[in-house]
Amino acid sequence: MIQCYPFELLPLPYLYDALEPHIDTETMFFHHSRHLKTYVDNLNRLLKPYPEFHECTLERLLLENKKLPEEIRQGVWNNAGAVYSHQFFFAGMTPNSTKLSGKLKDALFLDFKSWEDFYEVFFEMALKLFGSGYLWLAADERGKLVLLPLPNQDTPLPQLLTPILNLDLWEHAYYLKHRNLRADYIKAWFQAVNWAEAERRYQAALLQNALHTSR
Ligand code: MN
Repeated sequence: MIQCYPFELLPLPYLYDALEPHIDTETMFFHHSRHLKTYVDNLNRLLKPYPEFHECTLERLLLENKKLPEEIRQGVWNNAGAVYSHQFFFAGMTPNSTKLSGKLKDALFLDFKSWEDFYEVFFEMALKLFGSGYLWLAADERGKLVLLPLPNQDTPLPQLLTPILNLDLWEHAYYLKHRNLRADYIKAWFQAVNWAEAERRYQAALLQNALHTSR
């Protein structure tokens, strides 16, 4: 779905309580209806006086951030990044039971050796990310998977990587339920991951890079 100004608070693809007991209702409600809403409102407020950028997608605002006027550049970077990252994060979870499969599974085993190795590396990186940010699973132009911890609301897009999954590690993503226990939240998030969506994203990345036959 192509989005541009004015950006909207897109509804979640499930109800606020749908990810219980893994991700609790109160956290989902505040995360979506308050935190994401604020980022959407901030982004629209920043862009409002600049009609020449009203056709820009989130991706373009991030990839071509340097073309923006200096007075809104950092603000748009932060808030467009936040809207993109949150929509991506919410769509990367599901109440349905999904399993790692298909081309993504093949690539993950190729690049991380085994599920256990992947899980361990992911877990450690998520635990160690200092301050606020996200851990991203992304694919490079050859379809190789990389784990990328990024601060704040930064995305892998400017590095020309295609995001496959992201884990929001801001305290607002888990503090209501897990308080300071980030490890419990990481474990819980793994129970809610939408592997079907991750596989769809990975296949789209391969297709986009016209590499679906080379791996
Ligand atoms: Mn968040």
